[in-house]
Amino acid sequence: VEVGPLPAVVSESLLVPTVDGAVDYANFDHAASTPALMSVKKAVDNALRTYSSVHRGNGWASRVTSAWYEQARAEVRSFVGAREGDEVVFTRNSTDSFNLLARCLPRDTQVFVFESEHHAALLPWPARRTHRLPVPGSVSDARTLLRTALRDHRGRHRLVVLAGASNVTGEIWPVRELAAIARQAGARVVLDGAQYAPHRRVDLDDLGVDYVVLSGHKLYAPFGTGVLAGRADWLDAATPYLAGGGATKAVTDRGVVWQEGAARHEGGSPNVIGAIALAAACHTLRAHEAAVEEHERTLGRRLLEGLAAIDGVQTYSLFGPEHERVAVATFTVDGVDSSLVSAALSAEHGIGVRDGKFCAHLCVDALLETDPYAEGPATAVRASVGLATTAAHVERLLAAVAELAAHGPAHDYQLTAEGWVV
Ligand code: PMP
Repeated sequence: VEVGPLPAVVSESLLVPTVDGAVDYANFDHAASTPALMSVKKAVDNALRTYSSVHRGNGWASRVTSAWYEQARAEVRSFVGAREGDEVVFTRNSTDSFNLLARCLPRDTQVFVFESEHHAALLPWPARRTHRLPVPGSVSDARTLLRTALRDHRGRHRLVVLAGASNVTGEIWPVRELAAIARQAGARVVLDGAQYAPHRRVDLDDLGVDYVVLSGHKLYAPFGTGVLAGRADWLDAATPYLAGGGATKAVTDRGVVWQEGAARHEGGSPNVIGAIALAAACHTLRAHEAAVEEHERTLGRRLLEGLAAIDGVQTYSLFGPEHERVAVATFTVDGVDSSLVSAALSAEHGIGVRDGKFCAHLCVDALLETDPYAEGPATAVRASVGLATTAAHVERLLAAVAELAAHGPAHDYQLTAEGWVV
C-alpha cells in the first residue's frame, strides 16, 4: 500500500504541540487516550477566563457559563444525531455512562452483551438478568448468537449492548444489522461509541440504536467528561444517579421532587470546562470528518498489512482479517512477552504502544486461545493510529517490530517491580 502525502487536516496545527525539544515520540496509543486538539485548547483557554457554577445564579459569569454548558450539550446532540425525545447527559467517561444507564433500567430489564465487550460495557449490569453471549467467530455467528438469545429470553424490557468498534482489534461491528435484529425483537440497543466515535460518524437514527456512550479523552479532549445520549423515558423514570444539589426541583420535610431531563442525573457542580472541551472536539472532528477517516484508513491499512507480513508476528481479528476496522492493530511477537515488546519499543525506538488485555480479558483470551487460569501472562500488544500519527511513525513501528521479531530486544532487560529495566 502506498502511503501518500497526508491530508492537510493532519497538519501539526490541528494538535496542541508537544514539549519543545522532545524526541519525535510516536504515539500509537490513541485507542487509550488522544492528544488535545488546538481548538479544544482555545475553547478551554477562553472558558477559563471567566467562569462560575452553572444554573445557580443570575450573576453574569454564572449566566454565561450556563449558556456555554447548554451550547456544549447542543453541539454533542448534533454530533450524535440525537432525536426529539433523546437526552444528552454529561458524565465522567464511558464507564460512568454505562453505570448510569444500568442504574436507570426498568426493574425487570434483561441485558444481552457479547463477552468480547470492554469491561465498561460488560460489567455494570445486574448479574442475574444479564445474558452473556460468547465472543463471536464471524459476523453471521454474532447474528445467530443474538437472535437465539433474544428468542430464548423474552421479556417486557430488554437491552442489547453493542460495541461500535472493538477496542482490541479495531473491527467495526455490524451495528445496523444487529440493532435491526434487536429492534425486531422489541429490545433496545446501547452503542459503545468510545472507540467508534473518534473515527466514524455516530448517528443514533441511522445506526438504529437507542443510546450511545462516549468518552471525551478518546475524542481529542481532556479526561473527565463523557456522554450518555439517548431515549429519555428510562432516564426520567429512574431515581437520580447523583442525588444532590442540581438534581432537585424542591426539597421539603415531606420529601424531594427531582429534576427531569439531564439535570436529574448531573447532581453537583458539573464539569463545564470539560463539556466545553468535548464540544469543541466534536465540532472539529465533524468539520474534518472525511480527512480524518482518510488519514486513518491509509495509515491503518499499512500498519495492519505491514505487521501481518512480518515473520514471527501474529495479528488478530474477530470477524476475519478482511473485515473493516478503525486504525487499531493487535499483535503478538513469537517468543517475546508482550510487555517486553512494549517496553523495548518505548526505550529503543520512542514508540508508545499498549500491552495487556485492554480491559477486555474475555476477548483477548478468546483471540489468543489461551487459558486464563494458566501460568504466565497471555497478553498482546496494541498499536492504534490517530491524528498524531504520521506515515513515518508507521514505518518506524514496522521496522522496530521486524527487528524485535528477528533478533529480540537490543538490550538485556530484567523484569522488576517497576517494569522492564536494562
Ligand atoms: N468502551 C471501549 C470500547 C473502550 O475502549 C473504553 C476505554 N478503553 C471504554 C469503553 C471505557 O472508557 P473510559 O475509560 O473512558 O470510561
